[in-house]
Amino acid sequence: MDEDDKPKYELRGNRVTYRSADEIEDSAKRFCKLFGVTKKTRRNIAQFIESLSTRQICVDMIDDREWLWVTDGVCLPERFTILLPNSTYEKACAGDETATSTLCHEIGHLVLAHKAVLHNAKSVKPSKEEDAEWQADHFADYVVSRMGITMCRQLTLNFDSWK
Ligand SMILES: [Zn+2]
Repeated sequence: MDEDDKPKYELRGNRVTYRSADEIEDSAKRFCKLFGVTKKTRRNIAQFIESLSTRQICVDMIDDREWLWVTDGVCLPERFTILLPNSTYEKACAGDETATSTLCHEIGHLVLAHKAVLHNAKSVKPSKEEDAEWQADHFADYVVSRMGITMCRQLTLNFDSWK
């Protein structure tokens, strides 16, 4: 097939280094192991966030009145910091699935070390595996599924290799 005939993937976020679904699941798996993510984590989100700080991952809560509601969360990779509106943090602590998924999505950006890569105009068209947002979603879906949450965009995840 000619490159131009392929259906074009519409990037939602920055174009980043290609990672397959399997590679992302491996990173998510390692992350879950490191932080002991289980179904219990969902009821202890505050403690989970606290434990992130032992690995220099900082989650800062921002007053809702100061939050610009353009995004659900913000990730600052250079500072290893995640910014969340206070209400999202509280919702996650109360077991809200969407808020928990938002948190894990931002963690995904950090763990996957997302930095935009520059491509020249002649380079091949981006695929979803190069989309920072798709990668972070895939990471988050895996992590929340370990907490017993099934997101509606759920992709087929393979747990057979989970140890
Ligand atoms: Zn994102």
